[in-house]
Amino acid sequence: MTEGSDTLVHLIAGGIMHETHTFSVEPTPLSDFTVVRGDDCNQYAGTNHSLGGVIDACAELGVELSHTFFCQATATAPVASDLFDYLTGELIAGIEQHLPADGIVLTLHGAMVAEGSLEADAEIVRRVRAVVGPEMPVAVTLDLHANIGPAIVDASTLIVGYDTYPHIDLNERAAEATRLLVRTINGEIAPVMALVKPPLLPVPQAMFTSVPPFSTIIERAHTLEAAGEALTISVAGSFAYADTEAAGMSIVAVTDNDPARAQAIAQELAELAWSLRDQMLITNVPPDAAVAEAIAHPEGPVILVDVGDNIGGGTPGDGTVLLTELLEQKATGAVMVIADPDAVQACFAAGVNGIVKTTVGGKTDNLHGAPVPIEGRVRLLSDGHWVHEGPENAGVAAEPGLTAVVEVDGVHLVLNSMKIAPGDLQQLKSVGIDPARQKIIVVKAAVRWRGGYAPVTKHAIHVNTPGLGSVDLASFGYESVLRPIWPLDEIESWP
Ligand SMILES: [Zn+2]
Repeated sequence: MTEGSDTLVHLIAGGIMHETHTFSVEPTPLSDFTVVRGDDCNQYAGTNHSLGGVIDACAELGVELSHTFFCQATATAPVASDLFDYLTGELIAGIEQHLPADGIVLTLHGAMVAEGSLEADAEIVRRVRAVVGPEMPVAVTLDLHANIGPAIVDASTLIVGYDTYPHIDLNERAAEATRLLVRTINGEIAPVMALVKPPLLPVPQAMFTSVPPFSTIIERAHTLEAAGEALTISVAGSFAYADTEAAGMSIVAVTDNDPARAQAIAQELAELAWSLRDQMLITNVPPDAAVAEAIAHPEGPVILVDVGDNIGGGTPGDGTVLLTELLEQKATGAVMVIADPDAVQACFAAGVNGIVKTTVGGKTDNLHGAPVPIEGRVRLLSDGHWVHEGPENAGVAAEPGLTAVVEVDGVHLVLNSMKIAPGDLQQLKSVGIDPARQKIIVVKAAVRWRGGYAPVTKHAIHVNTPGLGSVDLASFGYESVLRPIWPLDEIESWP
């Protein structure tokens, strides 16, 4: 316990969250990050967010919590080394300011890459360790898409990853990590961790946790937890587009001072995942056939999942392949969101009800379709602000910047200034579009869209659009990931 307070446990919290697509050329400036400092972090209280889970658990446990620095950005290319130093510097300065403490909680992603630091999350924990010392209990929360290597396991006291994708247990898992940390501080438990990595590199689309194979693996983990075999078990599916040595699936088992048991559990679950790998293979529908199928479907909304431009997975969000198909095939009642600040400006210049003539999308790189010339009527202009209704990130604000809705033939284009991963109905509701009443909705996602859209979806088609979210991993030029790894390599048997 902190000196001078007889019973109160004192924790310090902070975090840096970025999922990094190492094949992306889209830069990651500081302005891409939502940055929250000090007591402003309390805005996350009660939200379905990792920091919200830390805050809520501390309130429930009567623990004193000091806030430092938290930042988060949508996935893009590796973070420049000076920006990474700046972000970790702010976090560490905040921690130093609030020491002494009994423990630290770090809310990280687990697939962050910075220039010069391929395993950036492990580097963050190491830098924090250098300040707080080897004895300080440090709990880390990670995304289900974390690429977990030995470095972050060595530097942390305990790790808790999300069990869901779409990520709807952000608050719960962070609260779990906080409770385990407090029990550690109180001497009730002595966590030890084991990491086993089956040689698997599945794509995000294979990791929907409500269906096999991931539901099978996570249910087994929950059974072991419920039986008291482990304090907590994390099944991290990996982020295949971060080309690092830590890339690939990970099982982390945490037991109460029983390293052999932790190792056996992690091994068992890794072998279970390996045995189910054929269920992780994904084949999607070509764009022209997908749009034809959506138009022919008798009932909407039909969700066209633009997997190649999966924003949450680090793509630009300005892919136009499906827009081109929708216009060519004369779809009606269709909605598509595209990030394009220049097109938004053109809409603002035209004004509400004005006719805008411009090009849309395809401007970040040449992998997601060409810019599409459009002429349409501006239906709505907005400051873009909305608040997630959830389940994922419920209560958390979204700021895609100035936003316009323009009607181009049978397509309502929602143009954002900044990309934002779709998974919440407020993205459309906030600009006056009722998702339930649309015929076709394009979502630039793999699985996340299900969080908000599943209840209104009549039919979903996963489209084999080209781009950085492509499920064809062999098309990426991997250099760092440890080989052999499935499905890039044929592996006769494992372990
Ligand atoms: Zn994730």
